[in-house]
Amino acid sequence: MAVSNPDVTGHAPSVGSRGRLTEISDDLITQCMHCGLCLSVCPTYALTGLERSSPRGRIRLMKSVQDGIIPVSGTFEYEMNFCLDCQACQTACPAGVKYGELVESARVLIESRRKGFSLKKFILTNFVAGKKGLRVAAAVLRFYQKSGAEKILLPVLKVLMPGLYKRAGMLPCMSDKFAIDVLPEMLDPKGEARGTVAILTGCVMDAMYSDVNIDTVEVLLENRWRIATPTGQVCCGSVSAHSGDIELAKSLAVRNIRDFEKTGADYYVVNSAGCSAFMKEYGELLKEDPQNCARAVEFSARVKDFSEFLYETGYRKPTTKLGGVVTYHEPCHLVHAQKVSGQPRAIVNEISGENYRELNEATWCCGSAGIYNVVHYEEASKLLERKVENIRACGAGTLVTGNPGCMAQITAGVKNARMDVEVVHPATALNRLYKSDRKT
Ligand code: SF4
Ligand code: SF4
Repeated sequence: MAVSNPDVTGHAPSVGSRGRLTEISDDLITQCMHCGLCLSVCPTYALTGLERSSPRGRIRLMKSVQDGIIPVSGTFEYEMNFCLDCQACQTACPAGVKYGELVESARVLIESRRKGFSLKKFILTNFVAGKKGLRVAAAVLRFYQKSGAEKILLPVLKVLMPGLYKRAGMLPCMSDKFAIDVLPEMLDPKGEARGTVAILTGCVMDAMYSDVNIDTVEVLLENRWRIATPTGQVCCGSVSAHSGDIELAKSLAVRNIRDFEKTGADYYVVNSAGCSAFMKEYGELLKEDPQNCARAVEFSARVKDFSEFLYETGYRKPTTKLGGVVTYHEPCHLVHAQKVSGQPRAIVNEISGENYRELNEATWCCGSAGIYNVVHYEEASKLLERKVENIRACGAGTLVTGNPGCMAQITAGVKNARMDVEVVHPATALNRLYKSDRKT
């Protein structure tokens, strides 16, 4: 089917040097002409006012490391990890500097120099990328939340470990079951299928929002797509790559390519913006892997974010509309990394009708950014406060957004601010309306 591209940002998705990430690409660094047009969109620059916390300043730090003027540890390491990797600077840059690749290269460089045990690497390898570890962690957290232990422990943490208490309060309710455990390998829609889509159930999405995965499947079925759920799928690898563990990310990508290929699906639909952004880059990630590079390019070409896919292939418009004031927050890895903005906006506009109200600074990072809100809790909280104030000003009762990190972060923010705002994924919003249509 021919598709229109309602890209409002006007930039092509980034491609570049991910295949050789043991050094920072000089070609990418020298593209920066130091104009400073990226400074006004940078959340960390807004927080500190320091040049070194801006995209331009960080690129200068990278150049200084390359030239041997400063070491990899210290300020360089701090600033590379203080960056949210939101890629707002990439959207703003008139020179097309691929900042996302630069900062990820810098993180790989940092991790490659690290000696000894790394707790971050241990957690990412075993509890995010490792399927068994993720299940154990999800089961423990579920027990903690549902057994009443949370109610007993939180007041204790508040006194003894206030830092951990604040972070624990941001944890969303864990799902009762993983969607991947209940979905059949293949599901046929009613009537003739338009084609087959394979879905990524994800790690964070399935552990915390498995209902969104079910809504995604139901919406796709409603629109007459046959659904394949690859059972051997693993974490997409984005959290590992963004944290500097590129080899782990590559091995996860290869496993996913193998498993998704087996389905014979026409498209691979992903409902988590961070994951779809990364899976679209598998071709780049594996470009120096002779065994997998061609398959990776083919794989990435089939990846579509959920709202991008629905909008571009066409979907049944529900007759019922969302009630109350509805707004939309743009996940960084959808708007900046994938340049997908017009498509989800068009859907949210359609299903809200007159109830839609624009969110001021909709593209400004909410502070979630993978594990940023855990590692840089104070700074992430300031970004969240800014987001919450914009939501308050817009008067929304429903906020739609398509990334589990943003959903969890903003839900915690409005809850702390005692605001009556429901944060929902576009798939959930649409599925509710389809169900409501069926009743009327
Ligand atoms: S906008 Fe682009 S070229 Fe200008 S300083 Fe920022 S990164 Fe460099
Ligand atoms: S990725 Fe985001 S936080 Fe990092 S330099 Fe660019 S705009 Fe700033």
